[in-house]
Amino acid sequence: MDMELLRALSEADAIAASEQEVRDILLAEARKYDKEVQFDGLGSVLIRVNQSSGPKVMVCAHMDEVGFMVRSISREGAIDVLPIGNVRMKARTLQPVRITTRDGRKIAGLLDGEAKGDTVENLRVDIGATRAEDVLAAGVDAGDRVTFDTRFNALPHNRIMGKAFDDRLGCFLLITLLRELHKAPLGCELWLVASSSEEVGLRGGQTASRMINPDIALVLDTACWSKNFDYGCANHRQIGAGPMLVLYDKSLIAPPKLAAFVEKVAHTLSIPLQKDMFSNGGTDGGAVHLSGTGVPTVVLGPPTRHGHCAASIADVQDIHQTHQLLVALAACLNRETVNHLTDFRC
Ligand SMILES: [Zn+2]
Repeated sequence: MDMELLRALSEADAIAASEQEVRDILLAEARKYDKEVQFDGLGSVLIRVNQSSGPKVMVCAHMDEVGFMVRSISREGAIDVLPIGNVRMKARTLQPVRITTRDGRKIAGLLDGEAKGDTVENLRVDIGATRAEDVLAAGVDAGDRVTFDTRFNALPHNRIMGKAFDDRLGCFLLITLLRELHKAPLGCELWLVASSSEEVGLRGGQTASRMINPDIALVLDTACWSKNFDYGCANHRQIGAGPMLVLYDKSLIAPPKLAAFVEKVAHTLSIPLQKDMFSNGGTDGGAVHLSGTGVPTVVLGPPTRHGHCAASIADVQDIHQTHQLLVALAACLNRETVNHLTDFRC
């Protein structure tokens, strides 16, 4: 497992529409293997792994993380920020954050907000300034992005902790797929898509899939269970228990044939799957499966503990097994298989 790549992806700062730090990592990998890269108008990165007359398979993960944006600066030097994406309420008070200025400087600060009932309002970042002029002189201005100031760490028992695992673990899997399949003979045309702006409404997933017009899509994302140490039978997001196969969320119900196909491939590899359902939220899959005239789409990914906050914890083996499953799926998705998966007469 390339821990340095995981670290780089986790520590890259990229809220929706400001994803250059993640894009740079992906572009460097595409260059290494001399792959064609396209962009949609939002900045999603579309890497073509191979040329083929076979069906088009799109594997998609989003680049953006939840965070904040500078809204205004008070006379007293407080920096007002707005959440970008659904940052957990508990993660809106007393959190170390860093501001990325327009010229790329990183400025540390402490985020705090006022709890009002179930919500936290009036979010402000304190960088130790006492006047607006100090903040402006530090290079901070409205529109600057703010992310959690979290370092990546390897933990005991093959676990890792860091920020933005949602969905940098997916971006990591795009890269490991590219590394493994860059020369492989495939029966499909494989596109790896790192999408923009998922956390604010599944935006890049829509625009990128319109460009590719895929026959099948595999969307990579993560999820955590609300009670982190619940190992009960309802929790299908347990770390160390294998990749999740998402059967349902509010924006996408996995097509039974495609879900069964993924299960069969996982079974042949002896990879355990956690058959998960999202009661809240969705993924890029919701947008991708409605593109064109409809695309059979399934969502997969390693589970995490904790999410949409300063740090998540994940299991290295879950990530590796998701990679193995994706490699096998890419190898199996040829014309015959895809015709079967998209044939509604049987
Ligand atoms: Zn996500």
